[in-house]
Amino acid sequence: MPIKTGEQYEASLRAMKFKIYLQGELVENPVDHPIIRPSMNSVKMTYDLANDPQYEELMTATSHLTGEKINRFCHLHQSCDDLVKKVKMQRLLGQKTAACFQRCVGMDAINAADSVTFEMDRKFGTDYHKRFTNFLRRMQEEDWTVDGAMTDPKGDRSLPPHKQADPDLYVHVVERRKDGIVVCGAKAHQTGAVNSHWILVMPTIAMGKEDADYAVSFAAPADADGIFYIYGRQSCDTRKLEGGSIDVGNKQFGGHEALMVFDNVFIPWENVFMCGETEYSGLLVERFAGYHRQSYGGCKVGVGDVLIGATALAADYNGASKASHVKDKLIEMTHLNETLYSCGIACSSEGSPTASGTYLINLLLANVCKQNVTRFPYEIARLAEDIAGGLMVTMPSEHDLRHPEIGRVVEKYFCGVSSVPVEERMRILRLIENITLGTAAVGYRTESMHGAGSPQAQRIMIARQGGIEQKKSLAKDIAGIAHPSP
Ligand code: SF4
Ligand code: FE
Repeated sequence: MPIKTGEQYEASLRAMKFKIYLQGELVENPVDHPIIRPSMNSVKMTYDLANDPQYEELMTATSHLTGEKINRFCHLHQSCDDLVKKVKMQRLLGQKTAACFQRCVGMDAINAADSVTFEMDRKFGTDYHKRFTNFLRRMQEEDWTVDGAMTDPKGDRSLPPHKQADPDLYVHVVERRKDGIVVCGAKAHQTGAVNSHWILVMPTIAMGKEDADYAVSFAAPADADGIFYIYGRQSCDTRKLEGGSIDVGNKQFGGHEALMVFDNVFIPWENVFMCGETEYSGLLVERFAGYHRQSYGGCKVGVGDVLIGATALAADYNGASKASHVKDKLIEMTHLNETLYSCGIACSSEGSPTASGTYLINLLLANVCKQNVTRFPYEIARLAEDIAGGLMVTMPSEHDLRHPEIGRVVEKYFCGVSSVPVEERMRILRLIENITLGTAAVGYRTESMHGAGSPQAQRIMIARQGGIEQKKSLAKDIAGIAHPSP
């Protein structure tokens, strides 16, 4: 059965032998760890919704390899319609989790690796695409969550990989054997790493000939020998250890990032999809980043929907919902959020097939999408904080609310509209805090800035794809200028 249930997914994670450090300690049981668990719940939702007939059209697809129904996260886009459905699926999951549900990085990685391995083989006569397709078939059959791992720590940004003081600052091949390669290095900011079954590693930048050892792409089980993780901290993460359900803001869901370290990891050739072809590393980065920049036009919009809803409720509970400036701010938040969605849909609708048959988004529009994502969630968050009021960050804790004596004081002085229980007002304000400043802010704000590449990376692509010369000739035609440009 190619589509797993959420329960089967959870059970499959329990069977894995991850080596994870969190706050200086080795984690024995990641699935039930209170800091990690909410992030696992978010990924689990990608399985649960795929089994809900209501969401079948968005959450599932037909495998082009086997003709079987599969989870859309394991699918290669076969049309613009697939690309559009991907964005809609991500918006839906953002609405259901109000967090990063992590599984998109693998989906974006397989779509990028498919076309690039195909084009590499055509040029070099290699068999990377066949190996990759075998991996993809297993991924679809097992309904794996795959972590697409791109970002190296990068050390001194002014130096290429081979000139770094420490060669491990970029993942690289340290040994080539008859049966495979051995790799060392690390990938940073790895979204969903310890909720994944496999990882798909890709190079992080365009490379020159001397960086051949660093132009490497491969798949490995996420708990393979030699791989370990150092779990990233998030703002307010230890609130999850307090046991309540209000102060965390989002009790059930979250996201995570981790440093993934490769300490002499052996990769059999069958799982190696690039090894030394430096001229293709830039293309793989460009395509993966393009798909992930499209993704943000879905996931951030879904989280934005929750934030707008929470803000409107806060206004209701404060008794401020009829004020014209509050109404106008909610309109502005909606306008910004829907603009992001429009970009996600536009770059999908304007997609086109690559040589392998897999559809690629319109790269210019995907980069415009992500450039807007580096700005609009900040403005949406600013307006949410404006409407919510200062109480969002000065409120007492859930322990105070539950206290036999001072609980009454909290109830008395933090009441807004008298028909709304104080606990509900606190819950909605904590949710806004969580999305704008707490654990979900990693995914909604800072990830909006740096995830899928920092703003300058999009501007480079916009410059490359923007067609300035063609625009000049349009202007010359209209103005009646025949001379060539200087
Ligand atoms: Fe998916 Fe968004 Fe998280 Fe990236 S940031 S993995 S696109 S939910
Ligand atoms: Fe991301």
